[in-house]
Amino acid sequence: MLTVGIVGAGPAGLSAARMLQETGRARAIIFEKQERVGGKSFSTPRYGDVHDIGTCYSTMAHAITNRWMRDLKIGQIPIARQMVDGAPVMQYIMGGRPFTTTREALQFMSAWKRQTRAFEETPGDQAVRATAAMPVGAWLDQQGLPSMRRYMQRGLTNMGYGYLDETPTIQALRWCTPSLLISGALKQVKAPENGWQSFWERFSQSLDVRLGQGVLGVRRGNDTIDISTPAGVTRVDALLIAAPLDELKDAMAFSAAEQRVLEAVTWGRLAATLASIAGWRRNDDIVIYEDALLPGASPGALLSSRVAGKPPPKKDRHGTRMFMCFQYGGALSSAELADRLRTEVCQRGGYLDHVAMQKIWNFAPRYDTRALEDGLVARMRDMQGDQRTWYTGATFSFEAVSNIVEFNKTLVPRMIDGLGALSR
Ligand SMILES: Cc1cc2nc3c(=O)[nH]c(=O)nc-3n(C[C@H](O)[C@H](O)[C@H](O)COP(=O)(O)OP(=O)(O)OC[C@H]3O[C@@H](n4cnc5c(N)ncnc54)[C@H](O)[C@@H]3O)c2cc1C
Repeated sequence: MLTVGIVGAGPAGLSAARMLQETGRARAIIFEKQERVGGKSFSTPRYGDVHDIGTCYSTMAHAITNRWMRDLKIGQIPIARQMVDGAPVMQYIMGGRPFTTTREALQFMSAWKRQTRAFEETPGDQAVRATAAMPVGAWLDQQGLPSMRRYMQRGLTNMGYGYLDETPTIQALRWCTPSLLISGALKQVKAPENGWQSFWERFSQSLDVRLGQGVLGVRRGNDTIDISTPAGVTRVDALLIAAPLDELKDAMAFSAAEQRVLEAVTWGRLAATLASIAGWRRNDDIVIYEDALLPGASPGALLSSRVAGKPPPKKDRHGTRMFMCFQYGGALSSAELADRLRTEVCQRGGYLDHVAMQKIWNFAPRYDTRALEDGLVARMRDMQGDQRTWYTGATFSFEAVSNIVEFNKTLVPRMIDGLGALSR
């Protein structure tokens, strides 16, 4: 049986390991630099509740993880009403045009299908490359879909993936799928009880995960690969990189293709703050602030907030409630983001008592426009398997668990085929 060494025990590495194991043809060893699994699925217990400071929601696009949760008997809690500046989110998206919006949603779905098929089947075609690189706002205008702009402001910009005038169409359409649209309409947005991290902890129990074993060196030979960690050297038959490539730039000699990907990707910064706030909303709605979603909004503007923890929301010892707040980080420091949040909360009628926890994540890898026009996507696909190395995770798929797990569903059989050819 072949052994695959996996770098990173985030959602990408863990789900790929499980899928590899299920083929019965390979065993996986996962090396993780932290002392916990889950990567950006990070949950923290505070004030008698578990709060997700990273991965928050599941939708109908999360079909595979939803099934794994059901298998583990992990329940999911439906997310409460979502409001944009006081209006229910669907009303905001419709912008007072219910009939045209329904028609637009159908138009969007067929345009999405056509376009994603082109990205998939002919990524090298010049016109397809140009569309891939185009900002999604321009693509929506070209398709004549004004309500879908508002849908994407909520689904894309508000979730930390960038403004519509900047985000390449190929990346925006990976996330804003018809199933995401339908999930919102059918109120099928949920969160696992006890948080995402606890799900991955239980999920990983049947896997070989080596915690605290950051990959420090990789030597790729013709037949085997040696992976160095603080515990020593492990020889494997193949490598699956399920961590950002820049995390490995000191550990391995990159090929020209790997170097090109590294240079074509920049990471955004998303701040997630668990804060104790007085005098704010009493219900458990998610509230989204429209002015932070529009191009030109400044870093640190409040994207959205929600009462943290399971309903009914808990009050802390000061009689205040815990809220989760999200901001784009830009170049702001942690202290500047907290200050900006304090001001924003005050302007919106609350009082920020204290910050219980703040995490600023490297989030939503963005492809360079010129590199997309030059065929980045086709190159990323073609480099899979070179030097017995495969790649998954947010860079190669999208910054969401659903996309990553679906990506692995296609990647793993290709890996098994490639490994079979290598061992013959
Ligand atoms: C605030 C926030 C909210 C989010 N909300 C959602 C949501 O609602 N729904 C959704 O689907 N997704 C959501 N996401 C996105 C989702 O969490 C990520 O897309 C997902 O975690 C990425 O998985 P990954 O395995 O590619 O990378 P990561 O989760 O980043 O995991 C990579 C792992 O690699 C490890 N690593 C790095 N370098 C090394 C090394 N040298 N050796 C060994 N290990 C290494 C890291 O420690 C980490 O554990 C959210 C993320 C954030 C931050």
